[in-house]
Amino acid sequence: MSLDDVLSRIDADLPAATDRLLELLRIPSISTDPAFKADCDRAADWLVADLNSLGIATEKRQTPGHPMVVGHLDGEGPHLLFYGHYDVQPVDPLELWDRDPFDPEVQETPKGKVIRARGAADDKGQLMTFIEACRAWKEINGSLPCKLTFFLEGEEESGSPSLVPFMKENADELKSDIALICDTGLFESRVPAITTMLRGLLGEELTITGPSRDLHSGMYGGVSMNPIRVLSRIIASLHDDTGRITVPGFYDGVPELPEEMRQQWQGLAFDHQSFLGDVGLSEPAGEQDRTPLEMIWARPTCEVNGIWGGYTGAGFKTVLPSEAHAKISFRLVGTQDPLKIRESFRKMVQDMLPPDCSVEFKAHGASQAGAFDTSDPVFEQARQALSDEWPDEAALIGCGGSIPIAGHFDRILGTTPMLIGFGKDDDQIHSPNEKYDMESFHKGIRSWARVLAALTKSN
Ligand SMILES: [Zn+2]
Repeated sequence: MSLDDVLSRIDADLPAATDRLLELLRIPSISTDPAFKADCDRAADWLVADLNSLGIATEKRQTPGHPMVVGHLDGEGPHLLFYGHYDVQPVDPLELWDRDPFDPEVQETPKGKVIRARGAADDKGQLMTFIEACRAWKEINGSLPCKLTFFLEGEEESGSPSLVPFMKENADELKSDIALICDTGLFESRVPAITTMLRGLLGEELTITGPSRDLHSGMYGGVSMNPIRVLSRIIASLHDDTGRITVPGFYDGVPELPEEMRQQWQGLAFDHQSFLGDVGLSEPAGEQDRTPLEMIWARPTCEVNGIWGGYTGAGFKTVLPSEAHAKISFRLVGTQDPLKIRESFRKMVQDMLPPDCSVEFKAHGASQAGAFDTSDPVFEQARQALSDEWPDEAALIGCGGSIPIAGHFDRILGTTPMLIGFGKDDDQIHSPNEKYDMESFHKGIRSWARVLAALTKSN
């Protein structure tokens, strides 16, 4: 029984695997909307039944929110855990979809076959790649080559409120050698990749209040402090002329890129001109002395995500507003401490306030960055396995986004997270007309079979 038999089995079973995925995609498991609570439950039940049919003892475990799906299979060899999520994002604006987001379909497109539905890529299609690899393996070999735990969540798209408490309560049960996480993508939609660096995220909302009520600028203009003016000054001062962020202590814990990684990233030949060109831009806007890939993956940011106050409707109103508001977020790297940065940011704002102005803050989440130790040989084994499946050599890459789950495995369980995914840049996750390429699905399943073989040294 060789890996080749498993791969052939995957090829032969692709139509049935696709049907199973379409079945799961028909369940509208939108986790943020209470109207879909029963559907989230149904998606969990569907997975419990499917995993049990593979001989993996699986149950639905209640949380204050949507249930976790947890399954175990005893076995020899390393203990691998697989994480994915069965919930999906809301679908609105519905009128921008070409079809019912929960009536999935395989479509022919100029770029090949795609599976079109909400959740096709994020994350049902991706999580099924691993389950289908296990199915083929079991059918060929009678058993799986390792001890295996499934840990599937139903609240990822609504901030995972139950995740950390659940992991802490069930730490002994979930602790494993490696946590395989399938919720990321291919590099440049083409190169298979293991994501080893993720940025953290800190969100802050502030309201600056000046006068006790809105004023007429003909009456009060000139003599009264305008809070929009104060807010603008604060926002303008968050970056210096070289693109560096000025919050005191902000760069504490920001590491320089290891030389080996710098070289590997240079080899990725990232085309920043086309990356920016796609969105109508031409010049990298980050720190002057950094490469564009460093700016996205390895450097922290400060962005103003929203700013409002005064009169913004049609026409004109010479109002001198009482309040001005902004939402500001920071992407974090290395060991930057989100709570210390929050404190320092708030103090900086306080210190800049003129007399008669006050500020109120609202916290919006804080997660640390994740950078995972890739010296463990399993990373090279997995990288090699991915390279065997795809035309391009697999790469270890960073990710500008935040996937807090990866850090939780590391910090709460002491389990090394390994993020492998097959999404493409044009999958339109979280947007209308989400799709997953049939190539991603098929080669994704084959990739997991190869990774399983490599990590358990059984082929
Ligand atoms: Zn996801």
